[in-house]
Amino acid sequence: MAVLEQPNARISSAQPVMELRGLKKSFGKLDVLKGIDLSVPPGDVLALIGPSGSGKSTLIRCMNMLEVPTGGTLTFRGQPVARRFRDQAGSIGMGKLRRHVGMVFQHFNLFPHMTVLDNITRGPRVVLGESRASAEEHALELLAQVGLADKRGAYPAHLSGGQKQRVAIARALAMRPDMLLLDEVTSALDPELVGEVLAVIRKLADGGMTMVLVTHEMGFAAEVANRVIFMEGGVIAEEGSPEGILRNPKSERLRGFLSRFH
Ligand code: ADP
Ligand code: MG
Repeated sequence: MAVLEQPNARISSAQPVMELRGLKKSFGKLDVLKGIDLSVPPGDVLALIGPSGSGKSTLIRCMNMLEVPTGGTLTFRGQPVARRFRDQAGSIGMGKLRRHVGMVFQHFNLFPHMTVLDNITRGPRVVLGESRASAEEHALELLAQVGLADKRGAYPAHLSGGQKQRVAIARALAMRPDMLLLDEVTSALDPELVGEVLAVIRKLADGGMTMVLVTHEMGFAAEVANRVIFMEGGVIAEEGSPEGILRNPKSERLRGFLSRFH
């Protein structure tokens, strides 16, 4: 796999976009995240891998407070994030965090009754108060970026899965996020549609977008990520460069996990 040999260093001494310290999440008696420490520097692309049920989605959802952690701290651009919607002196609220941290889901979650253009402009207009004209201008740029300039008036039901997912990415980008979270965004797609979505993500990575992505596409993770994190049982079991994690796994568990993809 030649892709593993690409240089991928994006070392930066800048303030992390996000930092997690001892982050925990329990659902009732079920402890799903058991203390996660993670720092995401600007421009980093982190790939989260691990078996089903290991807590990957819960972790990524905590990173924009779609799930509210039950312990530990989350810091965004040096400011602690509070477990309430509004900002207060010394901390930012979940509302602001969600505006700055975009999320793309496995099942697209587009608004079915809205056109592509309305799907993309709704957030900027309603949440950021942008004018229709300026939101539409930006949306059209984003649609061109994801290769869907001709689909502005289409409804989601008339798009392929790959097109829906590219619209979902454009919608997330319309909020001008500091960081994007992508949870298995190609898992619901027919195999022949995966490539067009990965190509969009690769372009974002090349453009310096900070991203955390949960993926089962190991070749893609190796190519696009500069750090790979293996989760198991609610902890980070192993982390390192794509080369180190995917080619020279240390633990038996990671070796076992990776062997399923060959
Ligand atoms: P992964 O994405 O790695 O497959 P998840 O984060 O989705 O794992 O799930 C981790 C564990 O947390 C699973 O046991 C799952 O059933 C449980 N879980 C996730 N979300 C909830 C929820 N809202 N309520 C109760 N349990 C949940
Ligand atoms: Mg998941």
